Amino acid sequence: MNSEFKELYQQVILDHNKNPKNFGHLTTCNHQSVGMNPLCGDHLKLELQISENDIIDDIKFSGDGCAISRASASIMTSIVKGKPVKEAKEYFHQFHDMVMNEEEQTEELDERIAVFSGVKEFPARVKCATLSWHTLIAAIDGNETISTES
Ligand code: ZN
Repeated sequence: MNSEFKELYQQVILDHNKNPKNFGHLTTCNHQSVGMNPLCGDHLKLELQISENDIIDDIKFSGDGCAISRASASIMTSIVKGKPVKEAKEYFHQFHDMVMNEEEQTEELDERIAVFSGVKEFPARVKCATLSWHTLIAAIDGNETISTES
């Protein structure tokens, strides 16, 4: 990745950290989970309202964390809000494969997900970036807490 792109991506992360989307609490929710990344101190709560036909009608996050974890939660919630659960899981796999795989990506990535491709160079931050996505899957599956260290 050239440095011009890198700066652009960093700017997106900083903007989302400063003005996170979907930050706060839902008045009613039927799925929730708390995700923790003890290595960094990131602590994230997700609240979801999933409809009877498996659409994520609403989603919000709260908690404390570093810029990358907050930006990731902001972008993740923006991506999956209004989407079927099945599609949200596909986005999770896309994100997970991107940050975990050494090889260059061949498939077309959603550009909001590609913003995080730079974290691969910082293994300690990969967990910050994936925390919100793991917490999303935990909430969908009915697991009330997850930790990156278990
Ligand atoms: Zn972090």
